[in-house]
Amino acid sequence: MFSSTLEFKNTFLKRLEMQCGKSFSESSSRDHYQTLGSMIREFVSNDWIATNERYLASEGKQVYYLSIEYLLGKLLRQNLINLGVEHTVQVGLQDLGIDLDELEELEADAGLGNGGLGRLAACFLDSLASLNLPGHGHGIRYKHGLFEQKIVDGYQVELPEQWLRSGNVWEIRKADRAVKIPFWGKVEAKMENDRLVFHHQNAETVTAVPHDMPVIGFKSKNVNTLRLWNAEPSPFPIHKDILKYKRETESISEFLYPDDTHDEGKILRLKQQYFLVSASIQSIVRTYRKQHTSLEQFHKHICIHINDTHPVLAIPELMRVLIDEEGYDWDKAWHITKHTISYTNHTTLSEALEKWPIHIFRPLLPRIYMIVEEINERFCQELWEQAPGDWQRIGELAIIADHYVKMAHLAIVGSFSVNGVAKLHTEILKKREMKPFYQLFPEKFNNKTNGIAYRRWLLKANPPLSALITDSIGPSWTYSAEELSQLLKYQNDSSFLEQLLKIKNENKQRLADIILDKTGVVVNTGAIFDVQVKRLHAYKRQLLNVLHIMHLYNRMKEDSNFSTAPRVFIFGAKASPGYYYAKKIIKLINTVAEKINNDPIVGDKMKVIFLENYRVSLAEKIFPASDISEQISTASKEASGTGNMKFMINGALTVGTLDGANIEIRELVGDENIFTFGLTADEVLHYYQHGGYQSREYYHHDYRIKQAVDQLVNGFFPGVQNEFEPIFDSLVEENDQYFVLKDFAAYTDIQGKIGETFMNKNKWQKMSLTNIAHAGYFSSDRTIKEYADEIWGINPL
Ligand SMILES: *Cc1c(COP(=O)(O)O)cnc(C)c1O
Repeated sequence: MFSSTLEFKNTFLKRLEMQCGKSFSESSSRDHYQTLGSMIREFVSNDWIATNERYLASEGKQVYYLSIEYLLGKLLRQNLINLGVEHTVQVGLQDLGIDLDELEELEADAGLGNGGLGRLAACFLDSLASLNLPGHGHGIRYKHGLFEQKIVDGYQVELPEQWLRSGNVWEIRKADRAVKIPFWGKVEAKMENDRLVFHHQNAETVTAVPHDMPVIGFKSKNVNTLRLWNAEPSPFPIHKDILKYKRETESISEFLYPDDTHDEGKILRLKQQYFLVSASIQSIVRTYRKQHTSLEQFHKHICIHINDTHPVLAIPELMRVLIDEEGYDWDKAWHITKHTISYTNHTTLSEALEKWPIHIFRPLLPRIYMIVEEINERFCQELWEQAPGDWQRIGELAIIADHYVKMAHLAIVGSFSVNGVAKLHTEILKKREMKPFYQLFPEKFNNKTNGIAYRRWLLKANPPLSALITDSIGPSWTYSAEELSQLLKYQNDSSFLEQLLKIKNENKQRLADIILDKTGVVVNTGAIFDVQVKRLHAYKRQLLNVLHIMHLYNRMKEDSNFSTAPRVFIFGAKASPGYYYAKKIIKLINTVAEKINNDPIVGDKMKVIFLENYRVSLAEKIFPASDISEQISTASKEASGTGNMKFMINGALTVGTLDGANIEIRELVGDENIFTFGLTADEVLHYYQHGGYQSREYYHHDYRIKQAVDQLVNGFFPGVQNEFEPIFDSLVEENDQYFVLKDFAAYTDIQGKIGETFMNKNKWQKMSLTNIAHAGYFSSDRTIKEYADEIWGINPL
């Protein structure tokens, strides 16, 4: 069907008529999109079925990846690329007068995630399929993904996201595979045949209906599955108020929680978590049961990976199935469970560590709570036997303490592997945050530095650069990212470096057009495109960037001879709707932008741009056009970061703190090919422990800081009154928890160095090339191979 342009066109036209009931001349672009999408889905269906049959027949181990978020973005073009038919389709459509780019614009981003964690899950699915590994995703089919952001008068406004408005061509609803999830009710214990058995009575059940999406590997015959669960009312509810029941049921898969760094503690969130976990475990066990007569060897064939603690109830849920449904005793069930589950920790921020109050947990999930209680009691018993009387240690490590269930503790105790997401992060887990657990279970802890689906972030996002690379070193880099290191031989090839510059400038022009279209501001493509795009959070320190911009502006105003490389500062960031402080920073960025962009003295030398609604499809246009990648979190706070890797592989240079994977970027490219600055993680953690930082001293003694910080509150920005007082207070009155003022001088110095380096085009392009050449390490193929070999024990099929 896709083997020649002619064949493609014929099939497409026939299909269009059948599916839309219109002639070609009457059809719309959306009809074209729908037709093409369903053609691709059908095209892969043979391979998809065959893959599932292979998995069923195989004795090999399989992994299920459980994640409350998947930030997939658009799928059409990536699927065409992976199937190796992008060119055929593009030319065929062109012959019919259809522009593939335009069809791609019609596809909604699948934005079922907040940021890094959800995007990592999406990158992992791509690598699992591309490496022919037996690995499937399970998640929730949120009706509304992450909210759409509009900027109105400088403020963030949130609108409900509607990705399903025109349907989802990639999914197949499988009503016959639905499962039931019980909530509320009570547990009855009875003796049956000399055995204590538990029955969950009077539960309110919700039906979980799977919607399967094919995960198409890069030029592989392997098609894995992403199974997204939809919550629906059960046919015969016991509920008296049917409408209320329907509403409450459907609300479980209605909205994604729009926060990634804060534990909300809301009952609906716990419902979502158990809904995902119970549906997934029931479906995994049911599939397993087609092949095996018992679950005795379950852990030898199945690995269940939990992405952060959100799916940690997989542990008690698997225990429930093994004990209540399969009839195993506790010890046997615990052995199987503990050897099935592996866990990734994503953060050490204390406000993000999930804990559930017992008064919410117990009534909602009575049987699950009983099991967690039993796990806790047995664990505390063990601790007691190791160190009788050490109540403090037991209190610190217990899973249930102070009326809360601590989800990270449950994850560590009930799994065989605990991994961090970058070297520094894993060290902090072992040496500080989870030290007592590391001492107890040293063999469980390991590091898996994050990676990215570089075929999306380079091959798809940056066609001109990809073409240059393929022309130079051949196409094997699209299978093995390490091949990018061959580019190092062009380090001193000035014509190559010039081509690199030319491509960067084309990409900058393309972004400049988007900026003009979205904001009405004309930007100078000869300027440094200095970019910070990521969720808005105090620890990510967008504020440090803004204060430096204000300082540069102040210098330009004061000294007409002041000269520095021209800059376009670009921001993209969503703030959690309830995160007051983050929203203030968004307003500040827009206020600063308004002032600077309209000051004729500044002109072409500086512009500040806030691009609204940052998401995967916008990100794909930004990274290829970036010169500078801002990765300036307070050291120790950013577990890894993956945005840093997407910038790097597109040739942007990093200005960053020694945090997360920035450290590993520096190790790869060398100190001379990255701009690092600021406090180290050890220094930050030392201040937290022992005090000794006084932000006021920096405010009073550094004139540059005082000037910019005072401008937040002294009427410098007309018409905003006391809008920015909370920011002023956080820096001066509340002792600047994130060390913005402490790192200001070092950041300003390194920005000066960046300006100088940019003037030397040849040097800059050489640094850029070095970064691209070393970025292969950050392919999620490498990360997934490490998970497969060192945690899951799965092999390519
Ligand atoms: C990669 C990515 C992120 C994560 O960015 P960080 O800089 O690592 O926080 C967030 N959102 C989107 C849309 C992304 O593509």
